[in-house]
Amino acid sequence: MKRILVLGSTGSIGVNTLNVIREYPDLFKIEGLSGNSNIKLLKEQIEEFHPSFVVISDKSRISELRALIKDQCEIFAGESGLIKAAASGDYDILVNALVGFAGLGPTIQGMRRGKRIALANKETLVVAGELITMLGKEFSSELIPIDSEHSAIFQCIVGENFNEIEKLIITASGGPFLNRDKDGLRKVSVIEALNHPNWKMGNKITIDSATMMNKGLEVIEAHWLFGFPNEKIEVVVHPQSIIHSMVEFIDGSIKAQLGIPDMKLPIRYALSYPKRLKSQNIKTNIPEVKSLTFYKPDLNKFECLQLAYDVMNTGGNAPCIMNAANEIAVDMFLKGLINFLQIPEIIKESLNKVENTKIDCLEEIIECDRKTREFAIKFYKEIIN
Ligand code: NAD
Ligand code: MG
Repeated sequence: MKRILVLGSTGSIGVNTLNVIREYPDLFKIEGLSGNSNIKLLKEQIEEFHPSFVVISDKSRISELRALIKDQCEIFAGESGLIKAAASGDYDILVNALVGFAGLGPTIQGMRRGKRIALANKETLVVAGELITMLGKEFSSELIPIDSEHSAIFQCIVGENFNEIEKLIITASGGPFLNRDKDGLRKVSVIEALNHPNWKMGNKITIDSATMMNKGLEVIEAHWLFGFPNEKIEVVVHPQSIIHSMVEFIDGSIKAQLGIPDMKLPIRYALSYPKRLKSQNIKTNIPEVKSLTFYKPDLNKFECLQLAYDVMNTGGNAPCIMNAANEIAVDMFLKGLINFLQIPEIIKESLNKVENTKIDCLEEIIECDRKTREFAIKFYKEIIN
């Protein structure tokens, strides 16, 4: 029986993780849960899974949650509550389903204890890939990807020789604006951008998919997870999202991992690896798929993907600057404060103006994130005036 801590249990990946765990009551037990502010859902999850503790990230909701759940479990609050959960909870696997920079601290705590991290929170690797890779080695902590593309690559390379891999091929759906011209993108609404053709996900990653920043973050994520330089990580647009990614070997052979787009599949594998668990719920009917198509991505239209390749070449704190500016810009777009094409504009200006430095420790990463957010907000005020 493995004890699981699910951080971000009220989100899209969190809920899907609990859907998987519900299928195997003899294999998994929930040790802890966390939510930001959705206390109604958190209460339902506590009543069903009986965790030892729960974290409510929005501190102002703690007494409301206490009144709802009485003494069913311990409550930790705020950012420090997430850290405490990861640093002292009695769990075997940490499922990191938090969104954004908030996911970094708990990942580090779990890794320092040598725990398995089932990682959905790709931002962790974008802002601190080098540090995380080092911790993995030092504390023998396994980092198993939940992101479907990385799970696909991970599944393709099981049993293979690392130095016989030629390149990684990451597939991208292309999002809702694949067939729109660049000029048309300025006027797209929040509702249109949130209407992803294949996946139902949280708002931040859905906007990242529409700008293709999500694919950029995933190239950086793949670089750190699998240790490949960016020229050996290719992005291919594949609108059906059936092939989740591919690996090409030195003999020219290509392996792909396929399945209907359902995050329960990679979540299940991250929990059960190196075994596979039988599931009644997911079946891919290949004749129904009919056709699989592929295109080169348009880097001129989807500037955010190009920016991600650029920051990898620049190195140092550049990926951290890009990530922080993107989080601010996406939040502003979701609030209707900026248009879609101002997202890359804010990121580019942040990359130009926030000093590019080396980054050696967590404190420097936190400071770079803070400084960039401050700059991005200041720049936004300039462009709307
Ligand atoms: P979501 O917005 O649906 O859920 C995020 C969770 O984190 C919620 O539980 C929320 O309460 C909590 N949260 C949000 N902000 C927080 C903060 N500042 N502090 C503490 N908790 C906070 O997001 P999601 O779609 O589930 O995505 C989670 C992560 O997984 C992201 O990094 C995303 O890129 C990655 N991912 C998601 C999918 C998907 O299908 N949804 C696929 C691949 C990767
Ligand atoms: Mg993905």
